[in-house]
Amino acid sequence: MTVLRVAEHAERTDTGRQRRANEDAYHARSPLFAVADGMGGAQAGEVASAAAVEALAGGLPAGAGTVEQRLARAVQDANERIHALSVADEDRAGMGTTLTAAYVGDADVTIVHVGDSRCYRWRGGGLERLTTDHSLVEELVRQGRLSPEEAEHPQRSIITRALGPGAIVEPGALTVPARAGDVFLLCSDGLTSMVPEAELATVLADAPTLRTAAANLVEHANSAGGRDNITVVLFRLDDAGGAAEPDAADVTQVG
Ligand code: MG
Repeated sequence: MTVLRVAEHAERTDTGRQRRANEDAYHARSPLFAVADGMGGAQAGEVASAAAVEALAGGLPAGAGTVEQRLARAVQDANERIHALSVADEDRAGMGTTLTAAYVGDADVTIVHVGDSRCYRWRGGGLERLTTDHSLVEELVRQGRLSPEEAEHPQRSIITRALGPGAIVEPGALTVPARAGDVFLLCSDGLTSMVPEAELATVLADAPTLRTAAANLVEHANSAGGRDNITVVLFRLDDAGGAAEPDAADVTQVG
C-alpha cells in the first residue's frame, strides 16, 4: 500500500473590507493544518485565536489514544488556557475562538472542530462539506425548526460552541478516508458567509495552483462584500511514492 503525503499547500488570511482588525489565525505545517476565528473586543479575539493555533504548533500531541483523542486533548488544553486568560483579565472577559484542525494520516484525514470554521474535501470536481457548524442556525436546521433555505439567516454567525467561554468544550471529531488528488479546504466563516459553495468549487477547479486558488477565494469573498475576516488553508494529497510492497505485476521472476 502507498502512504499519503501533502504535495502542496497554500494559506491566506485577509482582514476583509469592513473589519478594522484580523482576528483569524491559522497553522500550516504538514501534516497538521488549522484555522481559528477569534471573537471578543479590544484585541481579545486575536489573543484567543492565536492561543488556539499555537496549541497545535508542536504537531500531533504525543500520548496514548487515537489521533482523534489526541487532537481533542490538544483542543481541550487550548480551551483551558484561553478560558484562564479570559478570567484573569476583564478586557478579555468572554473572549473565544473557533478551531478547525486537520491531520493527514497514512490513508485518512482526521478533523477536530469547534464552532463554524469549516473543512471541505474537493474530489473530482465536487466539493463536500465534512464539518457541521456549531451554530444557532445549524442547530435549528438539525432540529427541523428552520429549513436549509431559511438558514440564510442574519444571525447565522452566532455560534453555540467556542474555545474560551467555558471551562470545558466538546469538539466534534471525524476521520475520513483520503486519496491522492484530494484537496482539503479549511476556512473561516468570512469565506463561507460570502461565497456560495458552488462558487467555491468553481474557484478550486479553475485555479492552476493552490496558491492561486487561495488568493482567488479571498478575492471572491471581498468582491461579495468582505464583511468579515477571511482565512483559507488548502492542501493537496498525493501518494508518497516508494510503495512498501511492489504490485504483483512489477515483481520480476528470475531463473
Ligand atoms: Mg468570522
